[in-house]
Parts: sequence; structure tokens; C-alpha cells
Amino acid sequence: MDTRSQGPIRSVVIVGGGTAGWMAAAALVQHFRGTPLKITVVESSEIGTIGVGEATIPTIRRFYGQLGLSDAEVMQATQATCKLGIRFLDWSGPGSDFIHPFGHYGQDVRGIGFHNFWMRAREAGDGVALSDFSLGAELARQGKFTHPSPNPPSTLSVFDWALHLDASLFAQYLRKYAEAGGCERVDAKVQEVRLRPDDGFVRALALEDGREIEGDLFVDCTGFRGLVIGQALGSGFQDWGHWLPCDAAFAMQSENEPGDDPQPFTRVTARSAGWQWGIPLRHRAGNGVVYSTAHQSDDAAAAELTANVVGKPLMEPRRIPFRPGRRDKVWVKNCVALGLSAGFLEPLESTSIALIETGIERLRSLFPDRSFAQPAIDEFNDQSAREMERVRDFIILHYKLNRRDDTAFWRDCRAMAVPDTLQRKIDLWKARGQFVRYRWEMFHPASWLAIYAGFEEMPDVIDPGVAAFDIGQLRDALGQMRTSVARAVAEAPSHSDFLASLDCAPTQPRT
Ligand code: FAD
Repeated sequence: MDTRSQGPIRSVVIVGGGTAGWMAAAALVQHFRGTPLKITVVESSEIGTIGVGEATIPTIRRFYGQLGLSDAEVMQATQATCKLGIRFLDWSGPGSDFIHPFGHYGQDVRGIGFHNFWMRAREAGDGVALSDFSLGAELARQGKFTHPSPNPPSTLSVFDWALHLDASLFAQYLRKYAEAGGCERVDAKVQEVRLRPDDGFVRALALEDGREIEGDLFVDCTGFRGLVIGQALGSGFQDWGHWLPCDAAFAMQSENEPGDDPQPFTRVTARSAGWQWGIPLRHRAGNGVVYSTAHQSDDAAAAELTANVVGKPLMEPRRIPFRPGRRDKVWVKNCVALGLSAGFLEPLESTSIALIETGIERLRSLFPDRSFAQPAIDEFNDQSAREMERVRDFIILHYKLNRRDDTAFWRDCRAMAVPDTLQRKIDLWKARGQFVRYRWEMFHPASWLAIYAGFEEMPDVIDPGVAAFDIGQLRDALGQMRTSVARAVAEAPSHSDFLASLDCAPTQPRT
């Protein structure tokens, strides 16, 4: 038997030191502490990182929590603010405005989804907003923040939160953590990926300075280049541009306006051929526009961004072209791709970093030995593909449901055919007000409800069980729920006060 394929993995080489590379390094250092596993990160400071990726979803807090890091530590190290959700402006037509919160709406009764009661009240003429029943959405709208209750008395008190963070500070922080735990860092450009001639596994990285780095397992975190997974191992790429027409972005940082309090939400505003993001950090703001080059010129997109940035620009707009889609296989032989090398979905729902987290989790749970058992690799590839397709569908939904008529871009998006997996969901929602659930969904029914309701895409029927409730009773119950949310919001401190209350002493990462 080939002795190369016997025994545990002795060395992991992570290629790339962006957010994906350092997240992987920190998580593996933590997981394999006390074992002889050698972990090396090869990155090129000459090439640098993509330098965006600053809005997250709540799973980020579980990620660094597993590393033993607290919210306060990470927030101080990364100039972070709190994020309770995403505010969508002008998507459903000029002036439209809704929040997709990280949390629930109202309370279900006798197994009947809350939205049915809300729809019944609206049918009876009550102009109540769905967000009145979401603590997360209302805190966000009023610029407030408080920690969720660890023992919520009802679903009315359930919400979660994430961070807006400085991407380069986050990578630096994780790098310190990983290096303190024994990870070795090599700053050099990879010139060539050397494969074993007999089986095509990766044997080593040849560096520009003449060194060679050997390893048992290689983690490709080289960003859009996909140096190992794509260029060396030939894993193809499924292009999803026919469903997600945006294929470029301009990014730009700006100063915070004096006296302007950072909002506890990411702002995404529909523009003529895409949308603009606004991410509040404590020391600056992150801005950018994502657009379709088939519908708008680069100059026009950059001009639209510049005209709509609040605060003094700290840089010229930086163009980032991209291709939406995923690798056919993210694990091939002895190489696993994480981050942008595994695929890309535009940042509308801040999902890329979350997909890195789940990729790392999956790698930990299916961690190979030197036999690289194919069933585990197949399972990894299958789970990764399904999960990314689910996120893809959720993002496509926003485009499909738009109600803008002002440009060809929005009209084209509304007219496009969507994947069958998504069409099934939309059809069931319209016909019965129910949510289809697939395996490996990152977004739960409350998130789907936020988007459907935000775009006024409501079902054709109300659950017949609602007829058992007298409209007066129903109004009382809804009134109590709204009062309970309003009271909790009134008692919460402002987001700025919450940030100010964090201990501002510098912290060092621990391992
Ligand atoms: P990169 O940051 O590109 O890092 C690649 C690394 O590989 C670098 O260290 C580079 O030096 C190294 N490298 C490459 N080639 C070589 C070589 N030959 N030799 C040695 N080293 C090499 N995600 C979110 O979750 N939220 C967001 O709000 C968000 N916004 C985004 C906005 C835009 C416009 C884009 C394009 C992406 C956004 N993302 C967002 C995605 C997010 O930026 C990435 O998922 C994240 O930064 C991880 O990137 P990465 O580490 O895979 O790649």
C-alpha cells in the first residue's frame, strides 16, 4: 500500500491570507491545539486582499465565540458597530423602505403562522406594519441597540445581531490569534502549484523566492484567482450571471459625518442598474455600488456612487469585477477551497463570510486523513453546493420581486425566469402562504417573510383557521404584541450609547 496515504494529516497549507485564509487558520489552530498538526499560511502582501466584506450575519458571533473571543474584544479590535438587519430602500419602487431583521415577527397561535393574523388585520383595514411586531426591526429603525434576552419570554423578544467590521482589521486580528497559537506565516508569491505526477494530488507550492512549501492538505483561499482549486486542479465554474446580472462593483470608503450616529443596520439602496451599500463603522463608513455592466457603463456607476456617498470620500472609487457562481467542486483531491475561490454571490445579504464559516465547520467535521476518503469529499461538495444554491435563490428573490419600472435593468430582473427551486417556493407562498424548506438553508422562514412582505408579495389566501378568531379579539392580541415591542424599544439605549459603553481599552487576541 502507498504509505503516503496512511495516517493522519501532518500539515495543512492555507494559500491566501485574506478574511478566508485567516479565519481558516484561526479555526484550525483552535481545533487542533495540542496535536502535532502544522499549519502554515502563505500569503502575498504584494498581491494584497480584496479589502471589502464588512457586513456580516449573526453566525459570525458564533464563529469567534468558538475561538474564545468575546463580542467586546472583536468589536474593539475591528472598529465594529452592531447590525440588527438590512434596510432596503427604493427596491419596491421609489420611496419604499423595509428592514430585513435578524429575528422573528409576532407570535404564532395554534400553529398558525403570525403573518396570517397580520394579513387578516390588514384585510379589515388596519394599516399596521409588519415591522411593528419585530423587536429587531424596530430597534434598528429607531437607532437603538440592546442585547437579546438569554431567556426570551416569547418569540416577540427573539432577535439576533451581527457586526459591521473593518475587513482588514478583522484579518489582522485573526492573524495574531493564529500566529499566537503556532501558525506559521510565509509572505511570498506562489509561482507554481506542483502536483504529484502519479495521482495529481498537490505536492507543494513553489514560491517566487525559490522556496518550496510541501503539505498534506491545501486550503485554497486565494480569492477570485482560485490558484489551486481552479488553475492547478481544474475545478470548473458554474456561472449564475443569467439569474444575477450584477457583475461588478465600485467600493469607496468615506469619513463619518461629525455628529452622525452609526446606524445599527446595513443600508442597501436600489440604483439604476443595481444597488448601493452603506456600512457604518466607528472610524469610517464603507460604501459601494454593485451593478450590471450590461445595463450601465463603469463611469456612470462610479458617478452614481460618488453622488450618493454621504461624508468626505477617503479614496477614489475602486472597481472590482466579479462573476456570480460557484466552483463545480470545492474539494478536489487534497485541496479544499474556501472564500472567493469557492464561488461568489453578491453581498446583498452579507453571506460570503457566513459561507466561509460553514465551509470551515464542514472541513472540521469531515476532516480527512491521508487516505482522503472519497465519500467524505463527495459529502462536503454536495453540502457546499446545496447551501450556496439556497443562498443564491434567496438573493435572486429580491430581484425577481422588485417593483421598479424606471430602468431596463429592473424590468429585465422582474421578467427573468428563476431557478425551479425558487419558483416552487414562490408558488407555494402565493398559493398557500407556506414556506418550502430545503436542506442546508441559511435563511429561515422569518427572513423569507421579511422579503415577501417588504415587496408586498403576499399570499392569495389567509389560513382558514384565522376565521375562528373574532376581529376584535385579534386586534386586541395584535395591539398587545405591538405595545410589548414598543415598550422594549423605548427601554433600550441608543446604538451610540451602547457603543460608547464598550470598554475602549485595547485588547490583545488570546488563543
Ligand atoms: P481575498 O481577500 O482576495 O484574499 C486572497 C488572498 O490570496 C490574499 O491574501 C492574496 O495575497 C492571496 N494570494 C492570491 N494569489 C496569491 C499568490 N499567487 N501567491 C500568494 N498569495 C496569493 N462578504 C460579506 O460577508 N459581507 C460583505 O458585506 C461583503 N461585501 C463584498 C463586496 C464586494 C464588492 C465583494 C466583491 C465581496 C464582498 N464580500 C462580502 C465577500 C468578501 O469580501 C470575501 O468573502 C472575503 O473578503 C474573503 O475573501 P478571500 O479571503 O476569499 O479573498
